[in-house]
Amino acid sequence: QLADESVGMEELLISPLRLEPHTSLPLPPVLFGSHAGARANSTGLDLTVPAMRDPLLAAYAAVQVPQVPEFDVKNIPDAYADCASSYQKWSKTGVTERAAILRRAADALQAQTPHFCALLVKEAFKTWGDAVAEVREAVDFLRYYADEAERIMAPIAMPGPTGESNELRLIARGVWVCISPWNFPLAIFAGQVAAALATGNTVLAKPAEQTPGVALEAVRLLHAAGVPADALQLLHGAGDTVGAALVAQPGVAGVVFTGSTQVAKIIHRALAAKDGPIVPLIAETGGINAMVVDSTALPEQVSDAVVQSAFRSAGQRCSALRLLCLHEQIADPVIAMIRGAAQELVAGDPADLATDVGPVIDREAFDGIQKHLLRLNSESKRLLAPAGIAQAATNSIANLIPPQAFEVPSIAAMQQEIFGPVLHIVRWSGDPLAVIEQINALGYGLTIGIQTRIDSRAQALARASHVGNVYINRNQIGAVVGVQPFGGEGLSGTGPKAGGPHYLARFCAEQTITVNT
Ligand code: GLU
Repeated sequence: QLADESVGMEELLISPLRLEPHTSLPLPPVLFGSHAGARANSTGLDLTVPAMRDPLLAAYAAVQVPQVPEFDVKNIPDAYADCASSYQKWSKTGVTERAAILRRAADALQAQTPHFCALLVKEAFKTWGDAVAEVREAVDFLRYYADEAERIMAPIAMPGPTGESNELRLIARGVWVCISPWNFPLAIFAGQVAAALATGNTVLAKPAEQTPGVALEAVRLLHAAGVPADALQLLHGAGDTVGAALVAQPGVAGVVFTGSTQVAKIIHRALAAKDGPIVPLIAETGGINAMVVDSTALPEQVSDAVVQSAFRSAGQRCSALRLLCLHEQIADPVIAMIRGAAQELVAGDPADLATDVGPVIDREAFDGIQKHLLRLNSESKRLLAPAGIAQAATNSIANLIPPQAFEVPSIAAMQQEIFGPVLHIVRWSGDPLAVIEQINALGYGLTIGIQTRIDSRAQALARASHVGNVYINRNQIGAVVGVQPFGGEGLSGTGPKAGGPHYLARFCAEQTITVNT
């Protein structure tokens, strides 16, 4: 057997406690959310328990996704004018009251968990586990930003040697445009909107075209909790019509966007081309997210983390694993385990409680991924055949793509984010820092997974990685609000971390008041 040159004396320092015995291949079924509970933002719930299952299924039987008419672009100036005048009042509403309204909305949302889960399953094809996790995340955003607004909006005294009184405070900017994605149509929608509202801004919200129903119900809930109707308006429509007109609207104070890198750049250019003030953009975009696995990693842990990170939510998370970099010494057994674990996944109807992997969002997404798969089929080695299709699901469930994996020639060959359950694998040897450099060179910077039992190496690789979120020895999805602030750099975004202590300040201007006393 080849010696792993990348492992030096440090290997001897691995704590014996962490050398767990390996089990035989393949792994038993992977159950999402079966371990670690809240730690990994998995639900930790057994949804087959009747007390949990029955309300969900009853809500699904009753739910109707509301039809949302497209907003007429001609009316955008009027919507803006109403939102701007509402800003005058809302920004002067005390932060305590704004926070109380958001907390009321959080309570109402939590109380309606089955209904919103059912909406997410029906409109966005979420699995039940993902739907429950998403409602929880939305509730967390509302509560966290309520708390954070109260914390950061308090003026800060700046004592100093000037002999004057100096104070720094955050102030709202005005009307924000919030453009949210279909992959988290409730949590990211609620997060963007709550951040802007908590800080005293008002909002024109354009949800993804595919999921306006969830957004409409969330807006109704926020209005019922006390957000004035003009302070939060929903404008449903296409990005290149309604979205573009919103961004171009004079007077807009800021834009927050989650979606593709390409669209973020279009918005950035449009804002830069406008006359008037420089308008801030908060963008959270995609990633070619990698996991680097050295020869000391625990294969079972790697396999579990890979299957969750690459295939959960049908790979439709910005954070999802796209490129698995396996040390050559460990590659074969790890691939065998991933194959075993992935074959246990059930791909099928998201409304079925047994389903682990639902369909991708629409035909366009399906066609794009299929095109990529055709190319991979001819150019690359298939390591994991499409697995887990429930009997008859292929024909009856539209846009279903089963999990699959391919060996690709190099890290540099990865030039495109594929937003689906498709994993690319490369083998490496030598210096793991060189692997990180190649990953950095792709230009994205959202998440990275590092799997090693050498603590000093994990830290060195984390420090060398140009990404917003590093996950060591676990999966790399499901950032927890208030605990794992989420957002990337480079092609992955402008940097602000949703669910983190610095996020709300990005929605504000800052003012220093100096008084000659
Ligand atoms: N926050 C999500 C996660 O950590 C990803 C958000 C996204 O896909 O935009 O998995």
